Amino acid sequence: MHEHILVAGGAGYIGSHTVQLLLDQGYQVTVLDNLSTGHARSVGQAELIQCDLCDKRALLSLLDGKTFTGIIHFAGKSQVGESIAEPLTYFDNNVTGSLNLINYAVQAGIDRFVFSSSAAVYGHPSSSVIDEHHAIKPINPYGMSKAMVETMLVEGARSQGLSSIALRYFNAAGAWPDQGLGEDHDPETHLIPNVLTSLLPLHGKIHKPGPVKIFGHDYATDDGTCIRDYIHVRDLAEAHVLALHHLKGLTGALMLNLGSGSGNSVLEIIQTCQQVTGREIPYLVAPRRTGDPAVLVADNSLAGELLGWQPQRNLMMIIEDAWRWHQKR
Ligand code: UDP
Repeated sequence: MHEHILVAGGAGYIGSHTVQLLLDQGYQVTVLDNLSTGHARSVGQAELIQCDLCDKRALLSLLDGKTFTGIIHFAGKSQVGESIAEPLTYFDNNVTGSLNLINYAVQAGIDRFVFSSSAAVYGHPSSSVIDEHHAIKPINPYGMSKAMVETMLVEGARSQGLSSIALRYFNAAGAWPDQGLGEDHDPETHLIPNVLTSLLPLHGKIHKPGPVKIFGHDYATDDGTCIRDYIHVRDLAEAHVLALHHLKGLTGALMLNLGSGSGNSVLEIIQTCQQVTGREIPYLVAPRRTGDPAVLVADNSLAGELLGWQPQRNLMMIIEDAWRWHQKR
């Protein structure tokens, strides 16, 4: 069957890597993006339609006459701190925008829907390794917005027969430098790009001058810094393509964790960055960031079992790819 996939938010970080992989595998791809944080240059040979999902009328008219065999939905705002400062903007963008896209899928009879969710739906975890049965208790509007969309997908499956997979990402990192793809946020808040760009000349608001800040060193972990599960963005992209396949035989709404299954502390990340770059990385200890749990690691066995997905790239490869990308950028 000829596959034509609509990728909302395909100009962003994880979206653009998935678009490239779909193109490499022979899919026809149309990207829908408002380009608020994404980049037109990141969609490669895919068709790009500039549109805000919150503008329902524009959405319907721009997609009129097109037929898709599946939708992957990445579009949305993704900064926890910003979501606390501007919660209604987050609900508008992430919830209203998603609702418009889900309604479009139902009306157009597209029954395969893959959604970018997040480990943020779990809030403060009650165990260090989390599986999909863990309670959904988001502690910020970003995580709440992802949980609300998951609920809409469950109800859409029950009432309209929409089949969906929500992929709950842990810490996306790494790049695909040979394709000119990588993390390109401005301002940047994430650990690995902050550590690597601290070694590079200043440009834009992308990073602040001075040593890397470690947000808290008195957590209940071996070295006192927070532990996260870093997963290569290309491994994430592969999971989306596998999810599209899996949806062919699926009815209902499924949620899957996407992480490497192992954790690294902030200090271990800095040490690995030193190893990869061969440079000393100055850092200082700053106060804890609000809402950071000590440990967040995925139990990724369900995605392995159902999708046949296994992460192929370790932390060293994540940082090597990110470093090549930041130097080229
Ligand atoms: N972090 C840090 N310094 C930074 C950015 C992040 O110490 O400049 C810490 C943060 O407190 C968390 C971990 O690194 O414990 C990962 O944070 P990031 O923002 O990359 O992802 P999150 O886990 O919040 O999604």
